[in-house]
Amino acid sequence: MIPATPALVPREISLGALTLQGASRATAASYWRLKEFDIVFDMGHCPQAFIGASRVFLTHCHLDHAMGVVYWAAQRQMMRMKGGTIFVPAGTEEGMQKVLTSWAVMQGPRGRYNCEVVAMGDTDVVEIQRGISVRAFRTEHSVPSQGYMVIEKKEKIRPEFAKLPPLEVGRLKREGQAITEPVTRVVFAITGDTTRLPFDRAPEVATAETLVGECTYISPDHAHLARPMSHLHLNDYADVANDLRVTRLLLTHYSLRYKEDDIPTLVRANVAESLLDRVVVL
Ligand SMILES: [Zn+2]
Ligand SMILES: [Zn+2]
Repeated sequence: MIPATPALVPREISLGALTLQGASRATAASYWRLKEFDIVFDMGHCPQAFIGASRVFLTHCHLDHAMGVVYWAAQRQMMRMKGGTIFVPAGTEEGMQKVLTSWAVMQGPRGRYNCEVVAMGDTDVVEIQRGISVRAFRTEHSVPSQGYMVIEKKEKIRPEFAKLPPLEVGRLKREGQAITEPVTRVVFAITGDTTRLPFDRAPEVATAETLVGECTYISPDHAHLARPMSHLHLNDYADVANDLRVTRLLLTHYSLRYKEDDIPTLVRANVAESLLDRVVVL
């Protein structure tokens, strides 16, 4: 039997209230879906379960992160689903639109897919449902690139009113007092491919409940490869370990030079000690 490429075998990871599906290995494919919000981050491959997601956020347009979108667009059209949206880093929208148009022409007489391509720039926000939005943050790679944060916004009772009886709170509310205040929380973030962690420009990423971080290189012997290849090494996380307030750090996008079975041991042997209990090897 011919062995499957590891990144093409998706898995499902529980993140407390959320569920992440997908896989990622450098140069093979990266694709992730947040099941509860039905949104996809990168689509180097498009499993059946991802076709119904109407919003796809691409971190950049390298083939292994974007190749599945044509299949996704064609399948949605064939199944008569509503047109979806592909969000891409600003500057890459024209290229992506050309790819989709060219393929649609080859596909059949209709000559176009009913999805749209939307450019997102640094700090741009898209609301995906009431109280839940996705915000882009710039990263550094060999092509235009960005990561994304999923931000939850809720109204919470102000601390000065929290201990009052409900009837009293109701009365103050009727009198027009501002009883609540908006509270935001980053429930998920994904870096995509980058040669620098984004915490100086987007410090909120370091507070995410779950951070999916690129970690192409693990072994100390490969530290010199990360910068020239526009990627991250496990050491980059050690450098910021004290500022990382994430609940879980999911490391992924490992180079294919590492054997699947060796990766967990290699990561655990080399990760900063303060991250050891929060790191999840994908
Ligand atoms: Zn990649
Ligand atoms: Zn890339």
